[in-house]
Amino acid sequence: MIYIKFKYNLIKELKMAQMLLRSPEHFRNLRLVSWPNARTFWRIVTSGGLIRYFKRSEFEISNFLSEKLAKIGSKLQGDFTCYLHFIGPEGRYNPERREIQANCSFGFVNFLETLWHELLHLEYYNPELSEDENEVIVGKIEEKYPFEP
Ligand SMILES: [Zn+2]
Repeated sequence: MIYIKFKYNLIKELKMAQMLLRSPEHFRNLRLVSWPNARTFWRIVTSGGLIRYFKRSEFEISNFLSEKLAKIGSKLQGDFTCYLHFIGPEGRYNPERREIQANCSFGFVNFLETLWHELLHLEYYNPELSEDENEVIVGKIEEKYPFEP
């Protein structure tokens, strides 16, 4: 069983915005990115309801993902933190901190799929491989076990 605690942190959000503005080239080729602009800042200002919704849904979402992980024989256990974002790519992961970041502005199904993807990163992370090589590994797992919401 895993449990994902959802948090929103404005400093993390601003750091994400800063990263996108400083190195846009790292993000341009990604499938989905919300850039820091007037629209995304307005979304943050009006995000209270959505953030409360995710916090209330922690248990259901964690159970849903735990069941999926159990089906693929996952060894992930315990608590994880997910920082919600309205700016940035679909997701990011930090295995040392048992932390993921997920953009919740691309719809609920995309959000769940992102959590799944980042959890797979935490499970299969190999520090000796590059970011791209780790991506290939997770891509293969996803091919084998396509995400079904
Ligand atoms: Zn990835």
